[in-house]
Order: sequence, then structure tokens, then C-alpha cells
Amino acid sequence: MDKRQELYRGKAKTVYATDDPQRLVMHYRDDVSAFDGVKLAKLDLKGETNNKINAFVMGKLAAAGVPTHFVRVLNERESLVKAMKMVPVECVVRNVCAGSMAKRYGIEEGRKLGEPIFEFFLKSDALHDPLCNDDHIRVLGWASQHEIDEMRALTHQVNAVLKPLFAAAGIDLVDYKLEFGHPTDDPTGPLVLGDEFTPDGCRLWDATTGEKLDKDRFRRDLGDVIGHYRQVAQRIGVPL
Ligand code: UDP
Repeated sequence: MDKRQELYRGKAKTVYATDDPQRLVMHYRDDVSAFDGVKLAKLDLKGETNNKINAFVMGKLAAAGVPTHFVRVLNERESLVKAMKMVPVECVVRNVCAGSMAKRYGIEEGRKLGEPIFEFFLKSDALHDPLCNDDHIRVLGWASQHEIDEMRALTHQVNAVLKPLFAAAGIDLVDYKLEFGHPTDDPTGPLVLGDEFTPDGCRLWDATTGEKLDKDRFRRDLGDVIGHYRQVAQRIGVPL
């Protein structure tokens, strides 16, 4: 497998083409961003820490039957993934009220939810990822009803795997964001998880102390961001 030209530079990852049009290299940089790219920084060891956490989580999801774009780790900062055509919506599941949901409904952060709440957001930094529902997605043509049903089912399936995985390490999985798409080598087949899972895209709170172990440490200037990411890794059994 040969790494070729840079295709896309996101806020924390860079994507490269390979000699196989169906495969891409995902390069995890040390960059961190928040508030739609308004707050930016570089954090030592972030790239390799996230690459390792993601590989571990993708392995657990694949073992539980969740289809993902992840193929294999290439080196400290890079993994090989399937090239995908993504659905332009973000799927969020919440087990505990926090972040934008707390603000939107005026509910205190930390309220436990009787069952997981699922939300869709349109993926658009320019519009600040507005909340949307099945009708917006279907009628405006962002995805079909079948794909909407698949995204909801897969996101709940991920929750059923990851909530107990973190709970066993004394960590509450508060919420997380996932994105789905079709691999370019199977464009009409079932949807596949086409996203990373790292502390950048979820909220993780220590179950006993409530300490934040995720990107809110950066958003809210709580300090030692990567020390806490690495603590998560070590507690769930990711080899660092
Ligand atoms: N999230 C994300 N990318 C986004 C929006 C949200 O990774 O563009 C994650 C976020 O880290 C949190 C969950 O999705 O774990 C729910 O985020 P929320 O809607 O509360 O928004 P936020 O408070 O992060 O702006």
C-alpha cells in the first residue's frame, strides 16, 4: 500500500489517497479545535493517542457486528480506512444531558436520561450544525428513510457496546457523535460507520468524581487534555 497525495485537511486529521482508490490513509495530527474551528491549539501526543484509542474502539465495534470503515493501523499516527461517500448528517446519542442539549432546553448538565436520546444534526460548520429531524433529512434529500433508520439503529447498537465498555472502567459515556456513509466499493449496500471514536467526539465523565476526561477539557480550559485522554486509554485497556 503506497501513500499518495493529500486529499483533504480537516481540523484534526489529514486524509491521503493510496494506490488503491477504495482505500485512504487517515493521519491523526496533534491539532485540536472547538466551536466550529474558532478555538485552535496543538497538543503533544494527541495524534498518536487518538489513533490508538480509535483503533481499539473500532475493533470492539467490529467484533460486536457494527460495520466500520476502519481497516488497520499503519503506524503511530495513521490508519487505513475504506474510502466513503458520507451522509451529510451527524448522529448524536445522549445517555446524560450535557452540552448543547442542556443549553437548548435549559436543563442542568448531568441529568441522567431514562433512556438514550438520539438526535440528528446537519453537518455544516457555516450553519453551526443545526438540529434536524427525519423529515428534514428525507424531504431535503440528505438521506433516504431507510438510511435514516439504519443510522438510528447503528448508533444505538454502538451505545449498547460502548456504554458498558466504559462503565467497566468506571467511566460514564455521556454522549457522542457518529457519521455514516457508503464505502465506494459498495455504494448501494448497507451504511457503514465512517467516523473515528476518540475523546474528541464524545463526553466521558469519571463515574465516581464526575471529572471530565474528554474534549470539554480543551473547550472549557480545564487543563492537561491529553493526560486525561491517555488516562481513558489506559483505563479501558488500550495499549499506548
Ligand atoms: N460532537 C462532535 N462534533 C460536533 C458536534 C458534537 O464530536 O460537530 C460531539 C460532542 O463532543 C459531544 C456530542 O457530540 O460529545 C454532543 O455534542 P453537543 O450537541 O452537546 O454539542 P457541543 O456542546 O459539543 O457543542
